[in-house]
Amino acid sequence: MRGVVFDIDDTLYCRQFMLVEAAEAVLNVKVSDWREFIKIFYEKSDVNMAGLESGEVTTRDTNGWRYNETFRLLGLPYKPQDGGLAADAYLELQSHMKLSGEMKKVLDAFASEPGTILAILTAGESKHQWNKVDMLGLDKWFPRSNIIVTGDTPYSKPDVRLFKMMEERLGLAPDNLWMIGDNYDKDIVGALDAGWHSVWLNRRDLPTPDRLPDFEVRTDEELTDLLMRMCKGL
Ligand SMILES: [Mg+2]
Repeated sequence: MRGVVFDIDDTLYCRQFMLVEAAEAVLNVKVSDWREFIKIFYEKSDVNMAGLESGEVTTRDTNGWRYNETFRLLGLPYKPQDGGLAADAYLELQSHMKLSGEMKKVLDAFASEPGTILAILTAGESKHQWNKVDMLGLDKWFPRSNIIVTGDTPYSKPDVRLFKMMEERLGLAPDNLWMIGDNYDKDIVGALDAGWHSVWLNRRDLPTPDRLPDFEVRTDEELTDLLMRMCKGL
């Protein structure tokens, strides 16, 4: 038996374009370098993640602050309230988010494969992340008992205790577990520390690190192709 454990954001669905689109709508500008925008926005995530997971700050507040910091560092014209407005616009876009047809095919294939257990390990505020589970209809493939949201635990990714918690939930040993995620420092470092296998979706073409995942892919298409091959016994 093997467990395939997915991250949600930017792994099961791509939120990067939605984040930029929301900013462009509020500021009424075109962001020239979306990779740089996302890089800064994501770096700012680490500053507030602990407070977010403990419920001290809300997702709207932290996202609003991250937007304003990103606007400031990129020299985009903004007013103080624009960050919060962009956070609202992003939430609105998120309420229409969907899995891609290819990702659905992959999940269908895994779900009908008796040797595989599907699970999710996702970081963020509990309510916000569970809303995504519902909006994306993930319980079609993932039993709710196989979903761990860090906001429901005392730990943050890449704390190895989260990975141990998942091993216990699924009743599987590290060598039988795969982490599929886009964030090297959170998803892949955690998996490496726990002795799991991993697939890194390196969306932003970051340089290759010293400690390697089993597989590295760069696009959604490469990811779903690889997962389909894994499902068929790569
Ligand atoms: Mg992610």
